[in-house]
Amino acid sequence: MPLLKDIYEKLLERGHKLTPQRWAILNIFLQNKGRHLSADEVYTHLKALYPNNGIATVYRTIDLLVDLGVLKKLEFGDGRARFEIYDPDEPHHHHHLICTRCGSVTEFQDDLMESLEVAIQKKTGFQIQDHIVTFYGLCRSCQAELHQARG
Ligand SMILES: [Zn+2]
Ligand SMILES: [Zn+2]
Ligand SMILES: [Zn+2]
Repeated sequence: MPLLKDIYEKLLERGHKLTPQRWAILNIFLQNKGRHLSADEVYTHLKALYPNNGIATVYRTIDLLVDLGVLKKLEFGDGRARFEIYDPDEPHHHHHLICTRCGSVTEFQDDLMESLEVAIQKKTGFQIQDHIVTFYGLCRSCQAELHQARG
């Protein structure tokens, strides 16, 4: 988990202040770790604390935090960008499971990709340094709902 102190220093280094709104948005991400929030969702959380802020504040702050490397932008091809705190201590970035029905995002921590990487390297001579993996399918609750609907 990145420390607030480090994030604060990053902002200062680049000449930005930690305004109450920025602080609140950062905290929303820190408190929702593993939840992959969209800008709309962040806005909903923020409105509860600062009813006078527009969604433009959220977009601007998120852009800044992505720029500083504090947040990671995730695109899963459904036209809705999601964001998560970038954790420099996480040895390998986790994989994501996306439900094509409800859009839920689940993290998958085990890697299981090493043997695939070895196979690709052997076959192509390509030296793999990293990978980003997204799996698409149906989450458990969608499967249960579909099952019930069928009777
Ligand atoms: Zn689902
Ligand atoms: Zn994630
Ligand atoms: Zn992996």
